[in-house]
Amino acid sequence: MDVFASIDTETTGLDPETSRVIQIGVVIGRVTGTSWNLLDEYSVLIQPDDFVIPDSKHHHVTHADAMKRGVPLAIAFAALDALIALHKVTRMAAYNAAFDKEMLAAEARRYDFQTSDFQFLDLPWDCIMKKVASGGRWSKLTKVHSLMFPGRKAFRAHDALEDARAAMDVLAALSDPAKVSLLYCNHPTKKKGTCRNQAGSCPHHKTSKAPHAIVGLALVLTVFCYRISK
Ligand SMILES: [Zn+2]
Repeated sequence: MDVFASIDTETTGLDPETSRVIQIGVVIGRVTGTSWNLLDEYSVLIQPDDFVIPDSKHHHVTHADAMKRGVPLAIAFAALDALIALHKVTRMAAYNAAFDKEMLAAEARRYDFQTSDFQFLDLPWDCIMKKVASGGRWSKLTKVHSLMFPGRKAFRAHDALEDARAAMDVLAALSDPAKVSLLYCNHPTKKKGTCRNQAGSCPHHKTSKAPHAIVGLALVLTVFCYRISK
């Protein structure tokens, strides 16, 4: 039974060499079968030491906020590692593991830390996106989460803690064949048995015409009501 630390970073950009980590969210949970239970969680803003956080639609962190409420990176890294040791975490997980791990490793290099100084950089990492995509190109976490948990309220994307929690949901649900089948087009194919492209957006098999019909009907009704109200 693995104890996972699902981690997500908010960053100022996509290039680890020039972009900076500004928020870290981690959710620590024990995964049992197809579900998980929360052991701990930690969300921290990083105080920008020598850079300015530009406003962005990709995160909700402002420079003023990070200066006021943030902590120095070394403190955040130490706190994160203490939690990982406390709960005897065995594996790290992230939706896009290569990205988050490299962003964190680049910060460590800036401060002359070694990878071996921190368990979260040293432990094995699982990439949830790769597990979902099984080799192909795949969508954002919000889309994957909404496919697997159709009834649930959408989470606040681009908040590191919310993303880390949603990633843990997806990670555990990947052990549930019923949930996994919701991800794919599933149209019968000659070669592979069933189509593994993303449900609803497979270019070959239109799997969801219903939403378009509903939108179309709503539009017609709106125009109709508008006209008769005149
Ligand atoms: Zn298909």
